[in-house]
Amino acid sequence: MAARVLSGKAIADEIKSEVAGEVRQFFERHRIRPGLTVVRVGDDPASAVYVGSKVKTSEELGIRSEHLHLPAETSHEEVLAIVRDLNSRDDVDGILVQLPLPPKIDANEIIETIDPSKDVDGFHPMNVGRLSLGEDSLVPCTPAGVIEILKRSEITISGRHAVIVGRSNIVGKPMAMLLLKENATVTICHSRTIDLPAITRTADILVAAIGRAGFVRGEHIREGATVIDVGINNVSDPDLSAELFSPEDLEKRLKAIENRGFTLVGDVNPKEAIEKAANFTPVPGGVGLLTVAMLMKNTVKAAKMRR
Ligand code: NAP
Repeated sequence: MAARVLSGKAIADEIKSEVAGEVRQFFERHRIRPGLTVVRVGDDPASAVYVGSKVKTSEELGIRSEHLHLPAETSHEEVLAIVRDLNSRDDVDGILVQLPLPPKIDANEIIETIDPSKDVDGFHPMNVGRLSLGEDSLVPCTPAGVIEILKRSEITISGRHAVIVGRSNIVGKPMAMLLLKENATVTICHSRTIDLPAITRTADILVAAIGRAGFVRGEHIREGATVIDVGINNVSDPDLSAELFSPEDLEKRLKAIENRGFTLVGDVNPKEAIEKAANFTPVPGGVGLLTVAMLMKNTVKAAKMRR
């Protein structure tokens, strides 16, 4: 039987409408709106798109947003000084420094300089530590969004075996901690894992956060599993697209390649996943949409925690 496709849009819209309600309540109580400042250094095109979407969504939900776009030549010390200034400003509840930063800027030191109570990306070691301790904290947006998808789609987490492929600090590791907090039995796989398909086939919930288009195939998936695809990759090869998409999908994918040079593909082969999984998140239209919604939720949470 074909998998149920878990729409990120419906869930993201639900969360955004809840956040808009919280923003209104916050304003009634404090007479100011929660504020998010996004710092972007240089002209990475993908970062420009991500930041644009964060600023636009903030405005839609009533969050006051500020976008500091700094030239690529900005020095490490200048970025540090800007972050320190934002830490001291009372009207700033959330600070997000868009990654990647130019190579001459030490991203770790910048993240560690952000006031942990304003760290809406949840990357500061203090928030990473709190998450590991199972304490309430600001949690990275993408894995937090995955938990929302699972819960709001009524997929049982407790007691289930969750396998995560990928151990990055922004997705794989916090994903493991969040699933553990929800009482899943968690396995983390990575590039040195031996016989990956044998392990992923034991997953009730399989999360792919790898960065390789269509890497997870039918052989990796247990019949009836829930497959969450975090990956976002650009594919411009029509032959690879034919391996990834059913004939109905393929036509519009090839059109996208023709029109803009690429189509967005996750880390899972959707054609094969849909045949074996019980639940499956699409790309685009799945986890990606949750990331911005969870950033908005974190901003309001940070504002409430500080006041
Ligand atoms: P990353 O930092 O590059 O980490 C990739 C992970 O995958 C690493 O842990 C790596 O293992 C593992 N890996 C690579 N090749 C593998 C293989 N052949 N077998 C098993 N594991 C392998 O990537 P990331 O930042 O976590 O991002 C992962 C994906 O999610 C990307 O496609 C990214 O674009 C996407 N993403 C999406 C969102 C969203 O909003 N939806 C947000 C963030 C990221 P090692 O540690 O051993 O190298």
